[in-house]
Amino acid sequence: MKTLNDFNFKNKKALIRVDFNVPLNADFEVTDTTRIVSAKPTIIKILEDGGSCILMSHLGRPKGFQEDLSLKHIAEKIEDIIGVEVTFVADCIGVEAETAAASLEPGKILLLENLRFYAEETAGDVRFAEKLSKLGDIYVNDAFGTAHRAHASTAVIAQFFEGKKCFGSLLAQEIESIEKVMQTGEKPVLAVLGGAKISSKITIIENILDKVDHIIIGGGMAYTFIKAQGGNIGDSICEDDKMDLALSILEQAKAKNTKIHLPVDVIAANAFSNDAETQITDINNIPEGWQGLDAGPKSQENFHKVVLECKTILWNGPLGVFEMENFAKGTIALGNAIAEATKNGAFSLVGGGDSVAAAKQFGFDKKVSYVSTGGGAMLESLEGKTLPGIAAILE
Ligand code: AMP
Repeated sequence: MKTLNDFNFKNKKALIRVDFNVPLNADFEVTDTTRIVSAKPTIIKILEDGGSCILMSHLGRPKGFQEDLSLKHIAEKIEDIIGVEVTFVADCIGVEAETAAASLEPGKILLLENLRFYAEETAGDVRFAEKLSKLGDIYVNDAFGTAHRAHASTAVIAQFFEGKKCFGSLLAQEIESIEKVMQTGEKPVLAVLGGAKISSKITIIENILDKVDHIIIGGGMAYTFIKAQGGNIGDSICEDDKMDLALSILEQAKAKNTKIHLPVDVIAANAFSNDAETQITDINNIPEGWQGLDAGPKSQENFHKVVLECKTILWNGPLGVFEMENFAKGTIALGNAIAEATKNGAFSLVGGGDSVAAAKQFGFDKKVSYVSTGGGAMLESLEGKTLPGIAAILE
């Protein structure tokens, strides 16, 4: 696996695919700088080597040129964060971009305009990728957030940099974190899977069944497992057509000696609302008219024990409807347990889908070992898929 350390960037122009798809407010100010901050180590290493950085990214989903999605809005923020002047060029290919790239001096940063102003980017167009490739000497992919897309700048472009392509430090860190959970991490390994639906996590469960020692299944997904085993789940969320699948997962887990932990009690509500009446019930006996919206106290205690036994922990998905204060307790308790295990020396990775939002909302992002920067890319990695952006560097 080629990383930044395999190259000396002195007098080289690094063409870096970053993921600067950051949220902007109505005044075009960046409201969450995580993705820019995450790319800083890669940019700094190249500049310190004596090289220059040409940054390329997408922003949003434009249909052709769209002023509101121009990357010019974030140039100043990049300057603030990296501490180096950033020159913006209002195109990502063509004469203007090529001239700006050619005159870029060592120690300087050039920011190209939004790649997705060209439909060729998402289409993975080879000619477009070739035009981009003319701008730099070494291609660096540091965009985990788009590594699951076979786009021109994330995958197709790599063929034009034979022997001159590598992962940036962020992408390398993402790959190492996933490998820890899937292969190299200290045992016992635990995966916590929560969220609304089993159908969106099924491939992950099947892929990790023989890679981990414990799986906690929480959130809305759990009810399909409970009903499939004959429990009364009242009006809780359930995918009836996935009940056979749930039973088959439980059987496969048994055969593979992977322990599956389900909630035993829930906080049930008489409506899907923060103001609903609530009661704590056994998960197998939720009355009609009531729905489980959070893990109950006994479940929280059980999960706490499992988490503290484990040395490598993956957390994907909330244990309840955490967006509503009254149903966030299970998710918070789990986060606290993972924080405690991490303090005791366990490796913990949070990522995939909306997990990062939940972790950040409650401040757990500072208390785990690693927070992934890619929602969809992390989910696909956990499903065992080879991501095009990663494969293109390895080829
Ligand atoms: P996912 O995108 O699959 O990770 O699901 C996240 C969503 O699952 C969050 O918006 C939660 O509100 C929701 N969720 C978690 N537990 C439940 C539950 N018991 N009933 C309904 N929705 C839930």
